[in-house]
This record gives sequence, structure tokens and C-alpha cells, in this order.
Amino acid sequence: MLVPVDFHIHSCLSPCADDDMTPANIAGMAYLAGMKAFAITDHNSALNLPAAKAAADKLGLALLPGMEVTTREETHCLVYFESVENALAFGEVLYESLGASMNLPRLFGNQYVADENDTIVKVIPKLLIQASSFSIDKLSSAAHEYGGLLVPAHINRGSNGMLSSLGMVPQSPRFTALEVSRGLPCPDTDSFGYRRIHSSDAHRLEQIIEPAFHIDLPGDEVSARAIYCSMAGWLRMNNEK
Ligand SMILES: [Zn+2]
Ligand SMILES: [Zn+2]
Repeated sequence: MLVPVDFHIHSCLSPCADDDMTPANIAGMAYLAGMKAFAITDHNSALNLPAAKAAADKLGLALLPGMEVTTREETHCLVYFESVENALAFGEVLYESLGASMNLPRLFGNQYVADENDTIVKVIPKLLIQASSFSIDKLSSAAHEYGGLLVPAHINRGSNGMLSSLGMVPQSPRFTALEVSRGLPCPDTDSFGYRRIHSSDAHRLEQIIEPAFHIDLPGDEVSARAIYCSMAGWLRMNNEK
């Protein structure tokens, strides 16, 4: 079954996203856009996922828990989890791995954590768009302990895409898929043996206007678990290549 989704959306926790990108607003936009599932993937943090899960549940949508990690190489890599709890646990490890720069809201933007009623309950002090000390390899092994599935983000984009920051997609570690930005040239990644996914990478509500991708799920169940299991299957196949 082909399921309309968007697996790369930033909430008001990402300083570069608008303040009205609250979890409930994002879920509402995803619903109106006809999606059955979406992911919130804030920079280096999972702290808005509990509110996003509550908002998704209210609308009958599936929330795939995720985040967008900045590695030591300044490569952006999406990581997806089976549960919000696993994402939060890995998020704590990741936060410790970030550099010491604090956020300057007037310069970078706000880093708001919301509750399920869209009330701002916390402000995160460390700048979330700075790089982690984790290399791609270290990120792979560290996230693996929490069941994290790695998808290098917008690999063909000039800033923070893997093809520009590393110059290639490395043979190892093995990834789950590659996210390719539409509308930008991209070398033939079929030779890497990976599936491609597309996403909006939305930072503003008006960028959530249509499903960015359709994921093929084996059964009728649309849930975070079903999506995660399907993507974990991609990784198993990639590991055998
Ligand atoms: Zn990015
Ligand atoms: Zn992003």
C-alpha cells in the first residue's frame, strides 16, 4: 500500500524554523495536505516529539519519531526511531555531544519545546544547529544502540549535504536510504544501491502543502511501528549487498 508521507519537517524547536511551527500546527497541516504519516526532525533534538505524537494521535496520523543530526563533518543525517522514548533517550546522548555554543535567539531564532496544547514549556539553551562531536561512523554506532535508522539528508544540496561535505557516499556505514532534494541535480545514486526518499524539509507552515513522498508498506497498518519495520527491512537488504 502506498502511503502519503513527509519524513523531514522542522518544528519551533529548530532555531531556523518559524515559531508557529508548533507540533499541533504541523500535524494539522499534514492532515490537511492528505498525509497519513509524518516525521518531525529537529536539529539535534527530539524534545518536541512527545507533543507531536499527541497531536498526531488526535488526528489519526502516524508520527515517525526522528531528528536531523549534524555530524562532525557538518553533514546532515536524519535518524528515525521506532518510539518517541528511544528518540528521547538518544537525544540526551546527542545533546551532550554538541559543542558548547549557546543559542542567541535574536541571531539564530528561538528553540521552543511545546506541550500537547502548543504551550511553550521550555527553551533550550545550547545552540541546536551546531555540529555534534559524532562522526558519521560514530553516529551510526551510537544511534544503533537505540534502533536509529540513518538517512543522510538532502545529499545533493550544497550546504550540509553528504555529496558536498564528504564528496561521496561512503561504503560504510550502511544507510537505510538516501534523501535526495527535488529540483537539484543529483548524480546517479542507483550505483550506491540505496533507495531514495524525498521530503519537504519544511521550516514554515506554508511549505507543508502536499505529501513529499509515498512509502510502500506491506500491509494495511499505517503506524510508526509499521513504517519503522519497513525501513529497517531496507537497511537489512542494504547490509546484504
Ligand atoms: Zn539539513
Ligand atoms: Zn532539515
